[in-house]
Amino acid sequence: MKTGALIELQANLKALNLSSMARNLDGSLRQARESGIGYDEFLIEMTTAELRARAENSLNRRIREAKFPLLKPMETFDLAAVPELDIRLFRDLAGGEYIQEHRNIIFLGRSGTGKTHMATALGIEACKNKFRTRFTSCYGLVNELIEARQERALQRLVQRYVRYDLLILDELGYIPFSKEGSELLFQVLAERHEKGAVMITTNLGFADWTKVFGDPVMTAALLDRLTHKAHIVNCNWESYRLKQSLKEKGKTRKGNPCN
Ligand code: ADP
Ligand code: MG
Repeated sequence: MKTGALIELQANLKALNLSSMARNLDGSLRQARESGIGYDEFLIEMTTAELRARAENSLNRRIREAKFPLLKPMETFDLAAVPELDIRLFRDLAGGEYIQEHRNIIFLGRSGTGKTHMATALGIEACKNKFRTRFTSCYGLVNELIEARQERALQRLVQRYVRYDLLILDELGYIPFSKEGSELLFQVLAERHEKGAVMITTNLGFADWTKVFGDPVMTAALLDRLTHKAHIVNCNWESYRLKQSLKEKGKTRKGNPCN
C-alpha cells in the first residue's frame, strides 16, 4: 500500500475509534498480502482483533476500578485444599447469576480459611462477566463515609456505592465501628437492599454482629436484609495458612536429622 493511502486509512480508523485496527494496520496488510486471504476474511480478522482488544481493555478497567488488594483469580484457589467447600455452589457463584438476582453472599469463618481469596476470585469473575464491582474493607468504607460526611459529600458517595453491581465488603468484625460509622454502613446496605449484590467476609457468627454495630435493633434489621435470599458459606475448616506452615515444618523436620 502506498504511504499516503496507509496514512489516510490509519487516520480514518483512528477517527472511528478503531485504535487496535489502526495500530496493527501495517502488519495486518502485509500478512494478508502474503497469505492471499480475501477481503471478507481480512475484514473478519481485523474486526475480531479489534473486538478482542476492546474486551480486554474494558476487563482491565473494571479490575482496576474494583481495587482488589491482591489479584487472586479463580485458578489460584486450590479447591482440593478445602474439601468441605460446596464446590458446585462456588462454581455456580462464579457464573454471577446472584448478581443479576441481587442476592448476597456471606463467607463466615475464622481467619486464614480463604474468605478474602474466594471473595477476590469471585469479584474477578464478576468483572469478567461485565459487572461493575468494588472491593473494600468494611473499615475502609466506614472511614470513607465518615470523611465524606465531614466534607458534605456523603450522598454522592453513598450513591456511588449503591450503583456498583457487586459490592464486596471484606473483614467485618475485626474492628467495631463508632455509632456514626455503623449508621453510615447501615445506610449504604439498606439502600443497596434488593438493588445490588453484596458479598461480605466475616469471622463473626451472626449472634456476635451486635458487638460490631452496637445497636441491637439496627443489627437485627441489617441481618434481616442481608441474609434474606443470601448464600451463606460456612468456612468451618482449618486455616489454610496454618495447614501450609505445619506442612512446611513437617518437611524440614523430615529433611533435618538433628530434629
Ligand atoms: P481469610 O480471609 O479467611 O482470613 P485469606 O483469604 O486471606 O483468609 O487466606 C489466607 C492465605 O491463604 C492467603 O494467602 C490465601 O491466598 C491463601 N489461601 C487460603 N485458602 C486457599 C486455597 N484453598 N488455595 C490457595 N490459597 C489459599
Ligand atoms: Mg480475610
